[in-house]
Amino acid sequence: MRVARVALDVPLCTLFDYAMPEEYRLAPDSLVGRRVVVPFGRARSVGIVLESDVEAHVAERRIRAIGRVFDDEPPLPGDVLEVLRFASDYYHHPVGQVLLNALPQKLRRVPVRDGSRATKAAAADTAQRVTPPAESAAAAPEPQLTGAQQRAVHAVLSSRDTFAPFVLHGVTGGGKTEVYLQVVAELLRRGRQALVLVPEINLTPQLTERFRGRFPGVTLVTLHSHLAEGERMRAWRAAQDGVAAVVIGTRLAVFAPLPRLGAIVVDEEHDASYKQQEGLRYSARDLALLRAKLRGVPVVLGSATPSLESYANAMGGRYRLLELPSRPGARLPAVRCLDTRGQRLWHGLSGALLEALQARLERGEQSLLFVNRRGYAPVLMCLACAWTSPCTRCSARLVLHTSERRLRCHYCGHEEAVTRVCPTCGNQDLTPAGHGTQRLESALREALPAARVLRIDRDTTRRRDAFATMQARIRANEVDILVGTQMLAKGHDFPRLTLVGVVNADGALYTSDFRASERLYAQLTQVAGRAGRSELAGEVLIQSNFPTHPLYEAVCRQDYAAFATGALDERRQLGFPPYSHHALLRAEAARRERVDDYLARAAEAGAALRFPVEIYDPVPPLVARVGGRERGQLLVQSSSRNELQRFLSAWYPQLEGTATRSVRWSLDVDPLEV
Ligand SMILES: [Zn+2]
Ligand SMILES: [Zn+2]
Repeated sequence: MRVARVALDVPLCTLFDYAMPEEYRLAPDSLVGRRVVVPFGRARSVGIVLESDVEAHVAERRIRAIGRVFDDEPPLPGDVLEVLRFASDYYHHPVGQVLLNALPQKLRRVPVRDGSRATKAAAADTAQRVTPPAESAAAAPEPQLTGAQQRAVHAVLSSRDTFAPFVLHGVTGGGKTEVYLQVVAELLRRGRQALVLVPEINLTPQLTERFRGRFPGVTLVTLHSHLAEGERMRAWRAAQDGVAAVVIGTRLAVFAPLPRLGAIVVDEEHDASYKQQEGLRYSARDLALLRAKLRGVPVVLGSATPSLESYANAMGGRYRLLELPSRPGARLPAVRCLDTRGQRLWHGLSGALLEALQARLERGEQSLLFVNRRGYAPVLMCLACAWTSPCTRCSARLVLHTSERRLRCHYCGHEEAVTRVCPTCGNQDLTPAGHGTQRLESALREALPAARVLRIDRDTTRRRDAFATMQARIRANEVDILVGTQMLAKGHDFPRLTLVGVVNADGALYTSDFRASERLYAQLTQVAGRAGRSELAGEVLIQSNFPTHPLYEAVCRQDYAAFATGALDERRQLGFPPYSHHALLRAEAARRERVDDYLARAAEAGAALRFPVEIYDPVPPLVARVGGRERGQLLVQSSSRNELQRFLSAWYPQLEGTATRSVRWSLDVDPLEV
């Protein structure tokens, strides 16, 4: 019997056979990619047809009929289906869950109303979603491009309708966005759609504003997980119908259907946010490359600090490297290390840094103090017995938040009141150890009482519009010193900001994670890039006990190529990615022995398969217990991506087979943290 195979939102790596509707017998291919309602068990479910007119896998009497085809909406296009199927295979995640989760929620549910009403509702929806062009608004003028920008725009546009991957390496403030805008302008003239991916929701309003300013008559939609259900659905439909010419979105937008796609931009391509950390652990950057390849269009990976993977591809000639080496209309900031060895610091601040802050204050310029730790201090410590506020549910320490007078766990959210007395030895002299944003904020208020200090971290930006309000205050010059975490490091442009101070960055130099130095380099470059973006000259001061470390020297010279070349050499010698490929099996359970036992059996089963892959011993991650659950992980490495994939396919059924109810496990292919 000939049937259609349908993907359903169930945790099984299989498709389901259904009888094809009569009206599709003559054109079975037109059923592929369509949303359908099918009977499943005793209920009905929404599914997506992946194969049509194929021989049934199950007995004819067990085959039921498709209940309804949503033929009033276009099917998912071939490239989206292919990217989703690839993601399911490559990341080893159930195919139906991958497909259905890529849709806006509304499209995953069986509609309550009958067909005719639903069609009417859909028609009303269409009327609403076509945005009338704002003809009265004048477009922002196109600025004169530098020679480097012109060459980049030209290179991307001349690879018309062929797959061409580019790494756009531009210094911070080097005008990457202007390159994107002029590429998109030409795509619009050609009647094509552009997909622009950004790492964080915080960055979408800014970029959207610039695109709207430049293309006022054009329908532009944003796609990210914080949209209300209806909004997301309308944006998705506008992309699918080809109404939206520009789609700006976070990683999930890589799955948006775009019938007239002309190019993909991945801004800040090195950013870890492109990797989903739960469920389908996909890399939106990698899938964007695949999508561009399937559609035969150019893809631009933009960054001031490209990921070492992308840079190695550019060096190897697989991607083309485009450089924006200088800032149009401004100079790069001067970057220096402040040697803090043997210095007395005041709440973590050196005299030189305080003086520099004071000088900016007198000139009416803004400063940014960057520390990668929110809260007041990392821990509360007893100097008598070395007790350090532990979390009862995690193998982590509670962070002191003085403004709320609480100790808070940043892993599980557990909170308790600040204790006055050491619970171990009874000592009453407990001291905050280390420095967080709150501590720096209060230290600055004390040292520079005239300064208007604003702290920006996850604690002060919980409210929906808090971050936007703060940005407006900074632009209105109502702030002298910003104190913040990495939230402030990315993509923001404050014209009066001339000084960036960095405190407590050294920690990343001596962690076990081989990616720590790459992240630190990127972070310091990004945060340094906030200084001196207008005609005012910028200065960056990095406090360190290791001022001659090669990483800091490269940061100070702003020499990405030197850093990347050195780091890649090291990776090659050690056999780490991009010179090998990783997959990580993670497991967690309430009891440690369950985790250890599961991982030991998984390792044994893997070894018995005899593939040319290296299976490391199971180890606990950096924080081994979170929220009362014990965690463990097992790393598999191979020099061949294909061999690793073949191994994982053979291993997967055994991982499922040996798992018990008490153990939760997941597979992470190309993990960012090992
Ligand atoms: Zn004590
Ligand atoms: Zn905790």
